[in-house]
Amino acid sequence: LSTWSAVPAGPPDPILGITEAFKADKDSRKINLGVGAYRDENGKPYVLNAVKKAEEKMASAKLDKEYLPITGLGSFTQNAAKLAYGADSAPLNQHAIAVTQSISGTGALRIGGAFVARHYPGSKIIYLPNPTWGNHIPLFKDSGLEVRQYRYFDKKTVGLDFEGLKEDLKNAPEGAVVLLHACAHNPTGVDPTQAQWKEISDLIAEKKLFPFFDMAYQGFASGSTARDAFAVRHFVSQGHQVALCQSFAKNMGLYGERVGAFSLTTTSEEEKKRVESQLKIVVRPMYSNPPLHGAHIASTILSDPELYKQWEGEVKGMADRIISMRERLYELLTNGFQTPGEWGHIKSQIGMFSYTGLNTAQCKTLAEKAHVYMTMDGRISMAGLNGGNVEYFAQSVDAAVR
Ligand code: PLP
Repeated sequence: LSTWSAVPAGPPDPILGITEAFKADKDSRKINLGVGAYRDENGKPYVLNAVKKAEEKMASAKLDKEYLPITGLGSFTQNAAKLAYGADSAPLNQHAIAVTQSISGTGALRIGGAFVARHYPGSKIIYLPNPTWGNHIPLFKDSGLEVRQYRYFDKKTVGLDFEGLKEDLKNAPEGAVVLLHACAHNPTGVDPTQAQWKEISDLIAEKKLFPFFDMAYQGFASGSTARDAFAVRHFVSQGHQVALCQSFAKNMGLYGERVGAFSLTTTSEEEKKRVESQLKIVVRPMYSNPPLHGAHIASTILSDPELYKQWEGEVKGMADRIISMRERLYELLTNGFQTPGEWGHIKSQIGMFSYTGLNTAQCKTLAEKAHVYMTMDGRISMAGLNGGNVEYFAQSVDAAVR
């Protein structure tokens, strides 16, 4: 008998399953709208020119491969904090932001979860939006937190359930942690407006909740890194102390390089030093120190004014292409095919993903009859659409809903 004979098979990852089915499909019209990675106008993965240039610069600098410190590359973490909080941020200028490099956004969330579980003095309950990125739930449970959900999405309007959100946060126990998607909510593509963010900020202050931001898409939502950081910067300006997870997977196209940062705002440089010393104690037994190459790429881009400008243009280019696909799809479903139903949300949603409102049966039909693959909750990655396939997709949706 094997030592592991009693280990049950786990369920397959729903998104990887879609990729498998897509790969096995031989039809030339097939479309994969499952993956959360940007694709260019030809449906191909895209390496940013700013990244290529940064790598050339790094190659000619003949860098070594020594270990990074436990909290990562200092020039990277400082620039990452500046990008998120803004150059005029009070805690940034007071040297009061504790920050560590992380294994992309997931690693930032995991460090944050572990730090909160160990050091947060309030209640060890974290409220996640319903729905949320699938990995949030096991990630925070594994961190030792109790996971609860607050209402977020209204199926009827395919929009934000703002009243439900406020009611659930009002009823949360004092001191609970609240996870907020800073922009481009995954999976719905539905974000609060700036006025709604202000209300959420007030409510969180009133109820003494702790705001924990996941910002995996800065720049990817609106095309502007400053605009997408509105929520984080507003909360900080209102005196909130925040936790923040950053990922450079999407906005720099550094998916497999695993570049991210986790930060906490504190009230003084002395406090920051204490908090950072404890972040090190969380990180050290997990993976000792983070990978070098990707952080160096991001740091090179963020610290070189010319590369920074080029990068900003490329982020905007990606966001604009996605926005233009939203407009085109909306046009095709309404004026083009006059598809039954309301499709305004396709245009008003933001970021990589769109909750189409298609039900499971319709999603199945799309996969089986039209070779169009997406998650069964009706979520599509807008980045998978392009000039060559958007019309076929709209036509297939039209056929599936009639
Ligand atoms: N948070 C959200 C909401 C995401 O959608 C993702 C990626 O899809 C992540 C975090 C983490 O991604 P990564 O670990 O690749 O940076």
